[in-house]
Amino acid sequence: MSALLTNFKKQLPKKRDSLKKFLKKFDKQFVPNVQKMIDEADKQAWAETDCLECANCCKVMTPTFTKADRVRISAHLNMTEQEFYDKWLMTDKDNGDKVNRIQPCQFLDLKSNKCSIYEIRPLDCATFPHFKRKPFAGYNHIHDQNIEYCPATFKFISLMQEKIEKDYKW
Ligand code: SF4
Ligand code: SF4
Repeated sequence: MSALLTNFKKQLPKKRDSLKKFLKKFDKQFVPNVQKMIDEADKQAWAETDCLECANCCKVMTPTFTKADRVRISAHLNMTEQEFYDKWLMTDKDNGDKVNRIQPCQFLDLKSNKCSIYEIRPLDCATFPHFKRKPFAGYNHIHDQNIEYCPATFKFISLMQEKIEKDYKW
């Protein structure tokens, strides 16, 4: 396991409760200048995180494949959309999303941690872990889940917590 993941797994149990409490509170508060903090935390989190040392999202989570994703990727693989679905996907019974049937993702090269369809990967993968989605608070529940798996999210939310608790009494 990489140093990045080892360190993340060591830190997570120590900070999980505090980060989750912060996200819950953040849901209900207005924080002025929050976009500036988001931009700074985003920059710093990525400066300290190399996804090629991790690929945990591709190993333990599944993206949602939209219709456009399925059309684009199946064409790239010279398959029909139905063949692509039958080979790799299933339908989530709770929400109807089309998701991977296996983990790690079939498109992950486990030696290099690189995505073999990077240029045409699902939109969900391209925008993960959604730090810049707006409104930020609308994605708190997503960050709350991703803290469990994603070192970049863990770092990003830790930085947001530090910045907000330093500047605001709440
Ligand atoms: S997005 Fe998060 S979980 Fe995925 S590879 Fe990067 S740090 Fe790891
Ligand atoms: S499609 Fe690529 S980026 Fe998305 S989960 Fe699979 S390997 Fe990872």
